[in-house]
Amino acid sequence: MKYLDEYRDAAVCERLLGKIRARASRRWTLMEVCGGQTHGLLRWGIDDELAGIVELIHGPGCPVCVTPLESIDHAIELARRDDVVLTSFGDMLRVPGSAGSLQDARGVGAGVRIVYSPVDAVQLAARCPDKHIVFFAVGFETTTPATALAVRQADELGLTNFSLLVSHVRVQPAMELLAADEHCGVQGFLAAGHVCTVIGYEEFHAFARRFQLPVVVTGFEPVDLLAGILACVEQLESGRYTVDNQYSRSVRSVGNRDAIRLVDDVFEVCDRPWRGFGNVERGGLALRPQWRAFDAAVRFPRASLPVVEPPECRSGDVLAGRIKPPQCAAFGRSCTPDSPLGAPMVSSEGACAAYYRYANRRTSLDVTAGDDGVSNDVRAAT
Ligand code: SF4
Repeated sequence: MKYLDEYRDAAVCERLLGKIRARASRRWTLMEVCGGQTHGLLRWGIDDELAGIVELIHGPGCPVCVTPLESIDHAIELARRDDVVLTSFGDMLRVPGSAGSLQDARGVGAGVRIVYSPVDAVQLAARCPDKHIVFFAVGFETTTPATALAVRQADELGLTNFSLLVSHVRVQPAMELLAADEHCGVQGFLAAGHVCTVIGYEEFHAFARRFQLPVVVTGFEPVDLLAGILACVEQLESGRYTVDNQYSRSVRSVGNRDAIRLVDDVFEVCDRPWRGFGNVERGGLALRPQWRAFDAAVRFPRASLPVVEPPECRSGDVLAGRIKPPQCAAFGRSCTPDSPLGAPMVSSEGACAAYYRYANRRTSLDVTAGDDGVSNDVRAAT
């Protein structure tokens, strides 16, 4: 398959692994920011291949996982109203709130529908004028353009029965918190390729300078991931800290200007609570005042009920890279994908789900060392 197979090419992966091993004079600790990258690293066994050379810490880039419990509880509260249908991406349905999930609420009659884009929710609102359609808007900068477009469409259609429960987040402020934490041992970041496709990477230059940490814009296939790790190691070995783009087939430094303009028209930067991080300054987006008619939190304020986190779930520590999922006592025991205690076990980008899924059946970069000690074979094994 063009544009995919070449980024899974065994020989290329092999060469990149060899270069990383040859270049690293010591063990380096890197953080891949995005949950999609975490799944790629584990699926392809890259973390194992680089054991002792590069320690990979999994970052907070799973939008479902960082959505605070308050927002999930609010979504459930809205879905229980007779006059509301709550629409959401499928992953959000199974994330536990303080007392059950959206899926549980749907099982006892709440109005919950899965949609594949916020524009689907707008169309539903146009078809169902007797119901108020709320779209639960979660996600990083990758998904905000589609949400902004939905608001503009709803406005053009004159819909008064459509609104957003906004929980959009911005990735760089969370990276700043991690980089500023003296206990965080991260020495370089693999930035999320899809986020940078939208926002570009110019703002990361100031970040790299301020924290003296390399940032490499990285994709999701094994060749992308290994090229990103190699570029990061190259910088660290030569004492540089700047921004590299290893995902140039998708990312330009200025990003997607049309998408940025669209988002800026509808949203403004705000402080937002993140699961695992608490309040993140400038860490979210809120509807601008002129679009507040589409704000479900204004139309239907949340009842001030207490938020109840499951005590055994350490998702906050997982999301902040303080522990890896198997270090949670509940992992694989009381918490599994069939019976998740926290969002990282539910989401298709969650680190706990990645460890559970790929623990025993990785599609590994299975390397056999040649005579010269350099690994010479990459084969897929399930
Ligand atoms: S394994 Fe389950 S309980 Fe533990 S941190 Fe992950 S989601 Fe929470």
